[in-house]
Formats: sequence, C-alpha cells, structure tokens
Amino acid sequence: MGIIKDRYDVIIVGGGIVGLTLALLLAKSDKRIALLDNKAKVESFNREQYDVRVSALIPASVKLFEQLSVWDDMMALRVSPFTHMHVWDGDGRGKIEFDAASVGVNELGYIVENNVMLQVLWQRVAACAQITVLNDIQLEYLQRHEHNPNIELHGGDTILSAPLVIGADGAQSWLRQAAHIAITEREYEHHAIVCTVKTEKTHDKTARQRFMPQGPLAFLPLETANSCSIVWSSAPTYADTLMQLSDEDFALTLTEAFQSQLGAVVEVGPRAKFPLIMRHAQHYVQPGLALVGDAAHTIHPLAGQGLNLGLADAALLAKLVLQDYAHKNERIKHSTLRRYERARKADNATMLAAMDGFKKLFGNDIPVIKWLRHRGLNLTDRLDFVKNLILQKAMGI
Ligand SMILES: Cc1cc2nc3c(=O)[nH]c(=O)nc-3n(C[C@H](O)[C@H](O)[C@H](O)COP(=O)(O)OP(=O)(O)OC[C@H]3O[C@@H](n4cnc5c(N)ncnc54)[C@H](O)[C@@H]3O)c2cc1C
Repeated sequence: MGIIKDRYDVIIVGGGIVGLTLALLLAKSDKRIALLDNKAKVESFNREQYDVRVSALIPASVKLFEQLSVWDDMMALRVSPFTHMHVWDGDGRGKIEFDAASVGVNELGYIVENNVMLQVLWQRVAACAQITVLNDIQLEYLQRHEHNPNIELHGGDTILSAPLVIGADGAQSWLRQAAHIAITEREYEHHAIVCTVKTEKTHDKTARQRFMPQGPLAFLPLETANSCSIVWSSAPTYADTLMQLSDEDFALTLTEAFQSQLGAVVEVGPRAKFPLIMRHAQHYVQPGLALVGDAAHTIHPLAGQGLNLGLADAALLAKLVLQDYAHKNERIKHSTLRRYERARKADNATMLAAMDGFKKLFGNDIPVIKWLRHRGLNLTDRLDFVKNLILQKAMGI
C-alpha cells in the first residue's frame, strides 16, 4: 500500500475534552479540520454506573458548552449541580463556606462525569462535516520544510500536513515533545485516589473538602442524593496503603478521615490512583503550532481547575484564530499565536502558583502557621466582600 497524504487547514492532535471542544469551536469557520487520537475507541456513558473520573466545572466552562449547544445533551445524560461549598482545616478550627445565592447565581458549578462530556462531544464532532476524525493513529515524527509553512505529521503510511497544528494530547503530549518544547516540572509528592461512594447522609448539593496536613480530601456531590465522587490526595506511600485496603476497611478509613461529615461511608466503588505532577510548558506556541489543556499545563486537583483552564485555553485560541480567518488570512499569524500564549500563560501561571501556595499552607503543621491559617480562614469566612471576590475568581466570572 502506498503513502496516504492529506492536507488540512488545522490538525488537532488529541481528542480529549479540550481537543474536541477546540475542534467544534474552530468548525465555526469554513476550514478543514483533522482531529487525531491514538486511542481506537471513545469512552461512553453508562447510566448504571458513575464514571470514576469526574470534573467540577465552573460556570465559565458551562457557558462555553452552551455556546456550542452541547450542554443540553450533557444535562440529558447526567450532570450534578452544586450550590454550596464547605472547606475546613484538619481539626475543624478554621473553616470557610460559600453559597451560590451570595453571588446571585443558582449554582456554584457542576460535577460532570468525564465520559458524559466525551460522549456528547465525540458525537457532535462525528456529525460535523468539516471535521475528519482519525482514531488509532500512532504519530512518529514531525517535519518542517524550509520555505513551506506547513507542518507535516508522519505516522505509519500516513503523512498529514497543515499550516496550523495544535497539541491537545494531554500531560505526556507527543506534539510538545516532537516540537522540542521544554517544560517546568515538579512532583506535588501527592497521589490522588478517586472513587465513587455512597454515604449515610445526603450531600445537599454541597461540595466539601477537608484539608489535612497529609493532603486534601474532597467529597463532590453526584446526582443521587447520597452518592459522591471522592478525590483523596496524600503522600504516595499512604496512597499505596489506601489502594491495598479491602473495600470495608477503605470505607471505614474514609469515614474517619472525613470526620463522618456525611455519616458513614456505606459503599465504595472501584478506586483509581493518579500521581500528581505540576507541569508547565515553557512555550505554548511556535510558528504554526500551539499547545492547549494538559499538553501545556497540569495542576493539583485540589481546586478542580485543570480542565477549566484547558477549556479557557481552547476558547481564547479559537477566538483569536477565527478572527484571523475572518480577515481572510489563510495562515495564522505568529503574532496571533503569541497573543494567545501571553494571555493564557499568565493566567495559568497564576493558578499554578496559587495551588502551590494552598498545598504548602495546608500541608504545614508548624503551630504558628496553623494558628494563622485558622484565623485567616475564619476571618475570610466573615468578610462577605472578600469571600465573594474569591468565589467570582474561582468561578471564572
Ligand atoms: C484526580 C484528578 C481530578 C481532577 N479533577 C478535576 C476537576 O474537578 N475539575 C477540572 O477542571 N479538572 C480536573 N482535573 C484535571 C482534568 O482531568 C484534566 O485537566 C483534563 O482532563 C485534561 O484534558 P485534556 O483534553 O487536555 O487532556 P486529556 O484528557 O489527557 O486528553 C488527551 C487526549 O489525547 C490523546 N492522545 C494522547 N497522546 C496522543 C498521541 N500521541 N497521539 C494522538 N492522541 C493522543 C489521548 O488519547 C486523549 O484522548 C482532575 C485531574 C485529576 C488527575
């Protein structure tokens, strides 16, 4: 069989939530888009069982899905709104509570299973005439030619080329490595365990998080009133121990660690564990090339921001690229890509630094820091103005 060569206006490498969203945003132009993924199959929604991977979506991300008319389809499958948030310090002496009404909204955000988003986005992409989906493709190398601005991607018998290639291929981004873009990387020294649980008491649409010196433990409310998705971050050795416990012992340990806030944990589903690493690409763009989502940055999940930041990358990059296309520019100007990089890198760096600060502040057991932390949390809790500012920033308002 001969070599298959194909040329597109845009190639997106990676069909995760960020890559799929970006493809749909760019399909508002008349351009030919290729979306590649190295996986053969899409994860699909299962009504009988909650996906072990969920994301807390802020209103800005929901708005983006509404603009793409995919939010109603996600709601028709399953999304879980939350109206309150309770965060407290290890021993319960410092706490802060947020509620939607205080900032004049109905919900603070939504907990959405990742396979809900993936299924709806994949269906929409498959139905879009401008987007060619290439699954199960194993890319091998990237080639640039002098005097030809098109970037070529080679994999097996296939050569694909485009003047704009975007990496949405996740934390280990192949494209980022093929383009020799360096990253700043640091272990958070936490592994996160995720799992669906049932509790004795109902969650009342409240997202709860306890910060312990060993790491945060979050209970995120799901559609059924006594089901939650938990994210428990702790030192890698302790996380290994937790993974090895029987379901009964894990449920008991979890109930205790969560100070029985929702009564006993009465049922636990399969557990999955993720090493947590801070990564930040030193550059988001090169001529004709850009990175979005986890390909550009990964962050501790303690504030549930990773995907939200990736969706904000996709929204801004698409906006700027569509503006260039509207000016009849066949090729995206490098200055346009640089504008994207400047804006998003600064925003993402701020969030990465904030998560570092949180982790250090709450991971500290020195008495004076503990005292300041309690005072700080309780004081902020009483200052509605400051609290609302924090909330508005976290919600992307
Ligand atoms: C425990 C945990 C909890 C989290 N909770 C939240 C939360 O509550 N809220 C939130 O906003 N974020 C959360 N996050 C972060 C969030 O999950 C990620 O930021 C988000 O999923 C990244 O999406 P992405 O599309 O950029 O990358 P990915 O989801 O990694 O998708 C990458 C895609 O690229 C494909 N791919 C990979 N390599 C190649 C290749 N060589 N060629 C072609 N395709 C390739 C993959 O198959 C995949 O489809 C959490 C993360 C963790 C670990």
